[in-house]
Amino acid sequence: MAKVKSIYQCQECGATSSQWVGQCPGCQAWNTLVESVQVPEPAKGRPSGYAGAIPERSKLSAIKPERLSRLGSGYSEFDRVLGGGFVPGSVILLGGAPGAGKSTLLLQVTTLLSAQKPCLYVTGEESLEQIALRAKRLGLSGEHLECVSETRVEAIAAMVEQVKPALVVADSVQVMQVESLSGAPGSVGQVRESEAQLTRLAKAT
Ligand SMILES: [Zn+2]
Repeated sequence: MAKVKSIYQCQECGATSSQWVGQCPGCQAWNTLVESVQVPEPAKGRPSGYAGAIPERSKLSAIKPERLSRLGSGYSEFDRVLGGGFVPGSVILLGGAPGAGKSTLLLQVTTLLSAQKPCLYVTGEESLEQIALRAKRLGLSGEHLECVSETRVEAIAAMVEQVKPALVVADSVQVMQVESLSGAPGSVGQVRESEAQLTRLAKAT
């Protein structure tokens, strides 16, 4: 398999370059290039030489959809928006303006769910003390909720493998970073790769 290569992508126009340059070759903007991961393309006209295990096929009629039984959050309105609760192995991106209450909603949902299932709240923007203060203000005991202050996706993945939580909150993806990339947190490359790694993690655990 070809090695994963780094490319540099303009944050303004999306133009790419194989090396870092001060001025974007696409839109001529300065200092807009950020390192990102290039997905290796298979060589044309040749077999890919795949040597790994070939995944097992199943007849659609033989697949039991039990694994997809949804996990209710305990908040009926929230579950309704999700289409009946969380689908195991799925990733949900919760968007909203600053101050809209995303962190508050997530804290309420994870605290309630943590009474039945292990949950992990990863905070990258706020300190653990700020989270504790919010929980106190909302009257949430949080005695079952595990919290950690972390922004490195690799470290979060290792923790998830260990704790095996039913629900992980990463607040927020804007501050998460993949250590193998040099781009700043919040850059297109970092957000995209963080999302990709968290999605792979959700599907694998
Ligand atoms: Zn550009």
